[in-house]
Amino acid sequence: MSPVQDDPEIIAALRETVRALCRDFPPSYWRGLDREKAYPTHFVQAMTQAGLLGVLIPEEYGGSGLGLTAAAAILEEVHASGGNAAALHAQMYTMGTVLRHGSPEQKQRWLPAVADGSIRLQAFGVTEPTAGTDTTSISTFARRDGDTYVINGQKVWTSRAEHSDLMVLLARTTPKDQVSKKSEGLSVFLVDMREAKGEGLTIKPIATMLNHATTEIFFDNLVIPADSLIGEEGKGFKYILDGMNAERILIAAECLGDSAWLIGKARDYANERRVFNRPIGQNQGVQFPIARAYAQAHAARLTVYDAAARYEAGLPCGEQANIAKLLASEASWAAADMCLQTHGGFGFAEEYDVERKFRETRLYQVAPISTNMILAYVAEHVLGLPRSY
Ligand SMILES: Cc1cc2nc3c(=O)[nH]c(=O)nc-3n(C[C@H](O)[C@H](O)[C@H](O)COP(=O)(O)OP(=O)(O)OC[C@H]3O[C@@H](n4cnc5c(N)ncnc54)[C@H](O)[C@@H]3O)c2cc1C
Repeated sequence: MSPVQDDPEIIAALRETVRALCRDFPPSYWRGLDREKAYPTHFVQAMTQAGLLGVLIPEEYGGSGLGLTAAAAILEEVHASGGNAAALHAQMYTMGTVLRHGSPEQKQRWLPAVADGSIRLQAFGVTEPTAGTDTTSISTFARRDGDTYVINGQKVWTSRAEHSDLMVLLARTTPKDQVSKKSEGLSVFLVDMREAKGEGLTIKPIATMLNHATTEIFFDNLVIPADSLIGEEGKGFKYILDGMNAERILIAAECLGDSAWLIGKARDYANERRVFNRPIGQNQGVQFPIARAYAQAHAARLTVYDAAARYEAGLPCGEQANIAKLLASEASWAAADMCLQTHGGFGFAEEYDVERKFRETRLYQVAPISTNMILAYVAEHVLGLPRSY
């Protein structure tokens, strides 16, 4: 474990840096974007210029060489400010597939540019309309043709594709009915979307209940160089799984930030709002839900940073990462429901930002992995119950 990663002073300083930066992007900034369904370009630029998106990239490739605790703290603070890191969090961790499984040439070529933000690597194309959570049933196919692969198929919910230069793509390279294990025959590619757009790759935005630049992507005989393949052909499913614990821990940290913001907002409103000649927060029916949400968030926080520490130490952390994501997403949703209720009718008014956060934090029980699948993981892999699917 790196001593730098463990240093609480470095984490505290990072948190302060993010808090200071986020003061220039108050909730009104996010509210405006939400109305317009616009991408937070200025915020992403500010975070990039501050070097905050390259923290997980080793120093030899131009990053800060910090660990997951640092990345989690950064994302938590963005959310605790009332903002949302969905537009940029993937720039932090999608490169992990290249870092862990890429060739030395791929790492030299891409990681320094991702670290300084000159290349945006934040599109991750796994989910498909017909396969859903059953990832090994994806049908997007990459056929080897000399020095190239030819790709056909469709992805859905590929977020940030319009704001990314590269995409990590999971595709079949051997049909499912020709492999002995369904997790085999899947491969990972790093697709240069700057060259691919209009040449076989089409991106279509999906309008959603929250401001999340998500899209569907169509591949129609897209030709990419064979050296876009990451690692070994056919082993891609394992590579994707390797990155999932990190992603779950980081998303859980965002939920912690949402919880903190929502609880703070409810506390302030409950102290200020007077009905029946007293602050509404004097009523136990109002204050207990706030206290309960706080306790839930506190418990979730212990699991998130425990999982991050285990990940950093290179220890197995599937159980911890999944439980952290489960508890943190449930805590933030409970906090959102509580905060809306505490605000009464005003909770529905856009200018309070509560309804926005309510919509935003609901996502985490579905993406990047739904609650049922986490429970299935815990049931099967932790408790030894029979596999249910
Ligand atoms: C805003 C947004 C952004 C996203 N960004 C990305 C992205 O960048 N890249 C990407 O690849 N994907 C992305 N996703 C996709 C996301 O990971 C999936 O939506 C999520 O994993 C759930 O898959 P699904 O929507 O296909 O649901 P389905 O698999 O269709 O499942 C529907 C429901 O049934 C439940 N279910 C299904 N099977 C079982 C079972 N065996 N047991 C119990 N319950 C079950 C699920 O839990 C879920 O609640 C995004 C999704 C959203 C909404």
